[in-house]
Amino acid sequence: MSRFRLALIAHDQKKAAMVAWAERHRANLARCQLFATGTTGSRIKDRCPELDITLMKSGPLGGDQQIGALIAEERLDGLVFFVDPLSPHPHDVDVKALTRLALVYDLPMACNPSTADLVVAGFEARRRTA
Ligand code: PGA
Repeated sequence: MSRFRLALIAHDQKKAAMVAWAERHRANLARCQLFATGTTGSRIKDRCPELDITLMKSGPLGGDQQIGALIAEERLDGLVFFVDPLSPHPHDVDVKALTRLALVYDLPMACNPSTADLVVAGFEARRRTA
């Protein structure tokens, strides 16, 4: 079957958690087609160079909206967005926009590591039964 298509985004204070999460799931993620906002994707690539990640622009410069366009074009199977709830962000509206599109298209969207674990487990379960 074709690879699952997953987008990865993390706010600055959550990037270390995202890298740790990606390292933990690197074997599963290696079976996915990955997209990421610029800085998040670069940080993951530094630690997991084998992963196939298409880098979008940095989030504040439009990368979140590029991911949103992938959702609207139905070119994603999941979104992992580690949101920092404790800091203000100039592009806060992008979180709302992505959440809204994930709802419109019934896309699995994980905003913290424990939910992201479940999304990856779901992909693996679907892969095994495909
Ligand atoms: P970044 O963008 O990965 O380029 O930092 C993430 C974000 O939207 O804050």
